[in-house]
Amino acid sequence: MKIYAQYVWLDGRITKWEEAKVHVLTHALHYGTSIFEGIRAYWNGENLYVFRLDDHVARMFYSAKILGIKMPYSQGEVRNAVLEVLRANSFKEDVYIRPVAYVSTPTVTLDVRSLDVSVAVVAFPFGKYLPPDGIRAAIVTWRRVHNTMLPVMAKIGGIYVNSVLALVEARSRGYDEALLLDANGYVVEGSGENVFVVRRGKMYTPPVHSSILEGITRDAIITLADDLKIPVAEKPVTREEVYTADEVFLVGTAAEVTPVVEVDGRAIGDGRPGPITTRLRELYARVVRGGVEKYLHWLTPTY
Ligand code: PMP
Repeated sequence: MKIYAQYVWLDGRITKWEEAKVHVLTHALHYGTSIFEGIRAYWNGENLYVFRLDDHVARMFYSAKILGIKMPYSQGEVRNAVLEVLRANSFKEDVYIRPVAYVSTPTVTLDVRSLDVSVAVVAFPFGKYLPPDGIRAAIVTWRRVHNTMLPVMAKIGGIYVNSVLALVEARSRGYDEALLLDANGYVVEGSGENVFVVRRGKMYTPPVHSSILEGITRDAIITLADDLKIPVAEKPVTREEVYTADEVFLVGTAAEVTPVVEVDGRAIGDGRPGPITTRLRELYARVVRGGVEKYLHWLTPTY
């Protein structure tokens, strides 16, 4: 699917897609000094609902703080920029939204403190990121970076080289997605998703500790599991617990709730999406389109 939209929000202005360009000496291009978000907005036939917009904007500002760059706009301005670019494009379908702030000064210094930061919000029509009916995952040799080396809680462009290497390793071995171990050998994340396992009716997910992103979908799924009276514990997850799980699923803005039906050549459960995964996937799909009254506060209407 070709990614395209008519308009991009760039440094305070609605700009034509073709004109939203950067210089080749842009700092972030050389050193990975960008921070970004991935947000989805869902069209339900009447309106376009942005899912957990304020939480994504808040995380973007945490990322900037951790990297040590100064955002040239307020959280309210970035929030408005998201809505502005959606309206400018008059989208009436599901879209993915990518706000990004990047060190834009053309220079080779590493001291980012006084350098310029540009902000863009790109949004484009988007369908499924991973096959929704169940994927095959491989535990890859690359380890998830530890937060004593890079701040994994921040969505910093450069950190995603870790995810790129992991995904390419999994794909080149014939799998759909990577599962990464942390420095201690616990299973912590997909290349762009948080992970849950189900064993004997209980859900487990790695704690926000040293090697995971504090996912917004992860938070939503923990909340929804609570509503469904499914017990959830945040605890380290071992490789053997994944192999012997009844169900495994990945969650993320792009991946939504994606069942994992095979890991390293071993079928998970009976090799089909399990009942808890399916219930959560269906509930999540209703919530994001405004089908559940209790969670309307997670949605921001565009129009
Ligand atoms: N982990 C990583 C490494 C990610 O890139 C993402 C996607 N942002 C997630 C987890 C899931 O986070 P969220 O649910 O906030 O999209």
